Amino acid sequence: MPVTKSYIAKSVETMRPSGIRKFFDLAAGMEGVISLGVGEPDFVTSWSAREAAILSLERGHTSYTANAGLLELREEIARYVSGRFYVPYNPKEEIIVTVGASQAIDLALRAILDPGDEVIVVEPCFVSYTPLVELAGGKAVTVETTGEQQFKLQPEALEQAITPKTKALLLCSPNNPTGAQLGREDLQAIAAIVKQHDLLVIADEIYAELAYDVPHTSIASLDGMRERTILINGFSKGFAMTGWRLGFICAPGELAEAMLKIHQYAMMCASTPAQYAALEALKTGMSDVEEMKKDYRRRRNYIVQSFNEIGLECHLPGGAFYVFPSIRNTGLTSEEFAESLLREEKVAVVPGSVFGKGGEGFIRCSYASSMEQLQEAVKRIGRFAGK
Ligand code: PLP
Repeated sequence: MPVTKSYIAKSVETMRPSGIRKFFDLAAGMEGVISLGVGEPDFVTSWSAREAAILSLERGHTSYTANAGLLELREEIARYVSGRFYVPYNPKEEIIVTVGASQAIDLALRAILDPGDEVIVVEPCFVSYTPLVELAGGKAVTVETTGEQQFKLQPEALEQAITPKTKALLLCSPNNPTGAQLGREDLQAIAAIVKQHDLLVIADEIYAELAYDVPHTSIASLDGMRERTILINGFSKGFAMTGWRLGFICAPGELAEAMLKIHQYAMMCASTPAQYAALEALKTGMSDVEEMKKDYRRRRNYIVQSFNEIGLECHLPGGAFYVFPSIRNTGLTSEEFAESLLREEKVAVVPGSVFGKGGEGFIRCSYASSMEQLQEAVKRIGRFAGK
């Protein structure tokens, strides 16, 4: 039988392809391109974690683990989350090891949304949020953050977006693509509104380890928030483990149980060798995380200063490994800027518009690249912007 469009579900047919992908297809095949486009560390996973995965295979650990993940790993995650972010979770009932934070976001949305339920999505944001809300049958209600407010969610804007159908707020700090980090006071103001309207928070804290000036605060650690937060984190970014596909969810028992129901049917469990690697990363890899963080901080400071010097205004982001400079004074749209920059100077960046409201007029540049590459990229961008 021929496969035709008519077989494809309407929800998928109407889904827009990721603007990042579309843009990278343009860069593919060009020679000498410096990419500031990718959202992943340029470091290799620490040796001790890699060795643990190799050893686990040598020992024959090739079968499924428990659906929620190796209990030993969940215990270590519980120690990590309570030690570092001050939120206690029961590893037996409140933690699920997932296939990246990506699957964790999908699980959280699918477990809580009935058709038509609304989720507040704070833009500019990670490209998967709105499509995943819609695939789960929900409606994404977007709230814009702006450069003038360092891309921090304003309590009044949140309040205005809430309707009787709102079920959850999807919040990411430190943020992709802006690098904005919400501090304790910002989060307290948001938490007060969340509690007042009896909402859940899906907190994507995948960049929690990459906070450069002030330690990360988890919204789940605030008074009365643990019971209404689905906390998502993982190993991809801080531990430089993107390819292992390992994340985790911490949530109160009933919510965790609901997500585990879906996980056991849809995924069974996360990859076993990857779980052994993550276990070792938590036990012995924190000093490597600190080293990488020092390096990112140095690069962040360099690139922010350089962009401001070449006349592209750039705020100092508190975390993640992205800067989000304004290109408004060039008179180009972010897509025009990114396309011309790629053609003329062979530097790949991502147009801010692909990240939703508030992104137009900005470009996302990842500084997870070597200092030499960053220096060359800045030189080329400066030449381009100078024209
Ligand atoms: N959340 C945010 C904000 C991200 O930027 C990313 C990856 O870029 C993810 C989640 C997905 O992470 P993972 O590799 O753990 O699936």
